[in-house]
Amino acid sequence: MWFNQSQDEVLKELDVDLSRGLSEAEVEKRKEKYGENKLQEAKKKTLIQLFFSQLNDALIYVLLGAAVVTLIVGEYADSVIILAVVFLNATIGVVQEAKAEKAIEALNKLTTPRSLVRRDGETKEINSTQIVPGDVVILDAGRYVPADIRLTTSSNLQIEESALTGESVPSSKFYDKEFTEENIPVGDRTNMAFMSTLVTYGRGEGVVVGTGMETIVGSIAKSLNEETDDMTPLQKRMDELGKTLGKLALGITILMFIIGFLQGRDLLDMLLTSISLAVAAIPEGLPAIVAIVLALGVTRMSKINAIVKKLPAVETLGSVNIICSDKTGTLTQNKMTVLKYYIYDELVDVDIREESHEAKDEASEELIKSFVLCSDATANKTESTGDPTEIALIVLGNKHGMTKEELNRLYPRVDEKPFDSDRKLMSTLNEENGGYRVHTKGAIDNILKISSSILVNGEVKPLTEEMRKTILDRSIEMSNEALRVLGVAYKDTKVKIDEDEMEKDLTVIGFVAMIDPPRLEVKDSIASAHMAGITSIMITGDHKNTAVAIAKELGIADDITQAMTGAEIDELTDEEFAEKINNYRVFARVSPDHKVKIVKAFKKQGNIVSMTGDGVNDAPSLKHADIGVAMGITGTDVSKGAADMILTDDNFTTIVAAIEEGRNIYNNIKKAVIFLLSCNLGEIVAIFVSVLFSFAIPLLPTQILWVNLVTDTLPAISLGVDPGDPDVMKKEPRDPKESFFARGAGSRAIIGGLLIGSLTLLAFAIGLAERGSSLFESADAPEDVLIYARTMAFVVLATSQLFYSLTMRNETKSIFQVGFFKNKYLILSIIAGTLLQFGLISIPFLADAFKVIALPLNDWLIVFGLSLLPLIANEIIKVFMRAYRKKNNLPL
Ligand code: ATP
Repeated sequence: MWFNQSQDEVLKELDVDLSRGLSEAEVEKRKEKYGENKLQEAKKKTLIQLFFSQLNDALIYVLLGAAVVTLIVGEYADSVIILAVVFLNATIGVVQEAKAEKAIEALNKLTTPRSLVRRDGETKEINSTQIVPGDVVILDAGRYVPADIRLTTSSNLQIEESALTGESVPSSKFYDKEFTEENIPVGDRTNMAFMSTLVTYGRGEGVVVGTGMETIVGSIAKSLNEETDDMTPLQKRMDELGKTLGKLALGITILMFIIGFLQGRDLLDMLLTSISLAVAAIPEGLPAIVAIVLALGVTRMSKINAIVKKLPAVETLGSVNIICSDKTGTLTQNKMTVLKYYIYDELVDVDIREESHEAKDEASEELIKSFVLCSDATANKTESTGDPTEIALIVLGNKHGMTKEELNRLYPRVDEKPFDSDRKLMSTLNEENGGYRVHTKGAIDNILKISSSILVNGEVKPLTEEMRKTILDRSIEMSNEALRVLGVAYKDTKVKIDEDEMEKDLTVIGFVAMIDPPRLEVKDSIASAHMAGITSIMITGDHKNTAVAIAKELGIADDITQAMTGAEIDELTDEEFAEKINNYRVFARVSPDHKVKIVKAFKKQGNIVSMTGDGVNDAPSLKHADIGVAMGITGTDVSKGAADMILTDDNFTTIVAAIEEGRNIYNNIKKAVIFLLSCNLGEIVAIFVSVLFSFAIPLLPTQILWVNLVTDTLPAISLGVDPGDPDVMKKEPRDPKESFFARGAGSRAIIGGLLIGSLTLLAFAIGLAERGSSLFESADAPEDVLIYARTMAFVVLATSQLFYSLTMRNETKSIFQVGFFKNKYLILSIIAGTLLQFGLISIPFLADAFKVIALPLNDWLIVFGLSLLPLIANEIIKVFMRAYRKKNNLPL
């Protein structure tokens, strides 16, 4: 067992040198032998299984029943058509489902955790799946442990192992703990770290002893593969809506059947008509349409660097009206450079020459030395890893001939207190002069609070209040220039002290001021978000003045009265804070629990809030926010786990782009659904009216099924992927409580349905009239007259729906304003649908099967003319809507 072997035995057995790690060649060999480091996934459904699961539906049973009935009575053509419809329907269902699943899978791949490993003597970050036994892995707070690891160093390392043990209190880990017994429970093996557990504090290193299924979680992997219910709220609402409308449709169908029966119509005909109408009219496809549009939408979003982890987020994104964003890295470039440093009482400009040169004096050397020793980042001319703030410090050291390797060799680190954004400090304990020295760096105000003396001209002097004020004033000057200030202090001790003793009674050396330029593109995004009714808020751990200086540059705030610090938040009760919060744009010197307060206060004011985060402690605020956004590059695994969306480029602009995409996706779903409902209503109207007034039925069951198939699927999905409206960001965010049928959407569906239905009847009447009959005599009309009139009705029903889809692309803009050919898929669907319709009535054997007949040219003109009417009617309604909006100064 790995935990009761000595470190040397482990290293020997795995054949690895701790300081260099494995070589890439060796890694390749081991990859062949052990495979990828991942848990086996739950078996996916095969295509056949997917196909059969599509058939497992009450409506399909009804259709299959209808097929059997037609078979028995010898209407073979009808049974073939019904079976073909069932088959096609299921195939389309499978394709949709497979596509949606693939999109989600691809997204999951993008979010696989990454790990720090040492290979060929260098530290690099790789995908955790690429880890092999023997790899040397570096663990730090916020990362998931990528494999089972025997620790070789640890410093205050704490790991939360609830995934394995159910215990949510993190357990401390010690690389040097030795065990002799065999039977130690997993939770007590404190010299090991296990796959899928989470580092919450401290640092450590270790050797991978097991990967993939050969880990402890691997052996209990089954329980991790649980499927969760992943319907989004919108899908659920659609499901409910579908059910309600379905019941309504069913009621009408039954009523129709009873009326038909009382009228003495042919029972079998009535039965089949009722069944077909029920199948056509029940909008069972609604949740499926929502699912596919969402899946295609999130795939598009991943291409603009926003990975949506939870589908409901897409809907919520459209309603966001507050974006709370971290400053560093998201609003700024996170490319820090030290421009100046301060030593009592002088500001020194850093020489930006490339080549290295000696530090100006001893005091400068002390300052740089402490900063470098107290940093975990690495940087050389070509590469750097770690926190950009620290990289800037290492670069500062390199510039002055003080490399991290050299300093670490002279003054080995023996202990450390890691950085956390509550304390805003970090400390290390290094050997020096036969004793130890604490180096602490962090926010200058906090450094001053824990210091009692100061280094002046190489001498340690008591730190007076006046000195404190001088230093703070100088640092504020820097902050006002948008520079980020970081202070440093130290203290010597004879004996090794522990964590709690480190950050007390220190001697201040000075501070550095670094520049972190704003991202250029962010300014435009903030302006466009503003136009879209979205307020941008800056949240930062940095100093208020630095924050406000940058906020002004970006157009987030106008002056310092719009800024508040974490300390000021603490003075207010939650109620008071919520009342005031709308007046503020910048929150500075905040810690992660302030973020939760900020989210809650904004939500209390009725806002829909998105909040960014990257640290271990940001998880609660990400969870509280309506949209939690994690950083893909700098974010910890925990923050990514808690987020609804991940930005792969850490860029604010991406949030705004994602909101725009979210609004478009929601609108597209709405278009597709309203379109589907109009079509279904059209079919019901045509048939129901005929039955009610004792007309002949204008559409045969197979014809209804066909129209349903051709029009319901392709144009609806094409509407679902409609190119975004360029003006979508000129409108206010959608009220999340707003009904799907608000703003005229419901009446549009009803008007469309009534028009389509009555025009179908009109075409039927025209066909009858052309052959010397009429609607009221149609019940007794000869078969050939009915075939002719039905063909007219059939074509009008299909093509009017196809054309109508074009006008559904925008609620108020005309089809030309949105760009007639802009949605290629829709145009193709319409052309394909029309050609199919033409083929169906013109190709003799198909025409026979569907009981239709080829139409002469002048009839085609009539049916096309009629089919265009619903589209034209809707376009005319839009003219009035535009006029109304213009009059009331509303965006189109
Ligand atoms: P953001 O704007 O994203 O919140 P931030 O860097 O300003 O970024 P934190 O990371 O919480 O916010 O840092 C808060 C403060 O802590 C910084 O302003 C700085 O003074 C100090 N600090 C940041 N990084 C370190 C570090 N590695 N070591 C010591 N102190 C640090």
